[in-house]
Amino acid sequence: MRLRRVVLASNNAGKLRELSALLAPLGLALEPQAALGVPEADEPHDTFLENALAKARHASRLTGLPALADDSGLCVDALGGRPGVRSARWSARGTDAANNAQLIADLAGRTGRAAHYYCVLVLLRAADDPQPVVADASWHGEVIDAPRGTGGFGYDPHFYLPGEGCTAAELDAQRKNLLGHRGQALRVLVERLRRDRLVG
Ligand code: IMP
Repeated sequence: MRLRRVVLASNNAGKLRELSALLAPLGLALEPQAALGVPEADEPHDTFLENALAKARHASRLTGLPALADDSGLCVDALGGRPGVRSARWSARGTDAANNAQLIADLAGRTGRAAHYYCVLVLLRAADDPQPVVADASWHGEVIDAPRGTGGFGYDPHFYLPGEGCTAAELDAQRKNLLGHRGQALRVLVERLRRDRLVG
């Protein structure tokens, strides 16, 4: 089976742009689920993998198309891996600014700032696909109290990369795609799609 049309189980314009850039050259057209009338799925699970699988299955079931979903978040060692799967709604308001303020408040008085972003991507050929294509990646750094930079989104102004000497929000988009968790996971996914002869 060769993939042609795939529904993206997300309405995030940034994710659509990043994912399409790598998948379009392989002849794979990504369509955001909202354009096909699919409402957001719940993300009730405790693992990124289960949430991504639930999102992909939901989109595939409602459209009859193959579906791609991603689930990602920031895991901070000193917080036992939180916010983790709850990253998008870590604060009550759930905005980037409120989530960042909550994170820094949670870390007050604690030692150790090691953290990583994690991303898992799941592609289902159909809602009942017994063989999901799965790819994941981590991106390691540390959380700093004072924000730096205006690029990226979410926790990026507080995610410092010692090897780069800057935060994720100070990287240009191309460099973030090269180093970041989503870009890395996507390149692994493309290899797996090739291996399974789903793309040419
Ligand atoms: P998802 O859309 O359910 O996967 O939620 C991902 C959440 O994790 C986002 O809302 C952000 O809070 C956080 N996150 C994931 N990737 C990034 C990133 O590249 N930069 C900043 N925050 C991220």
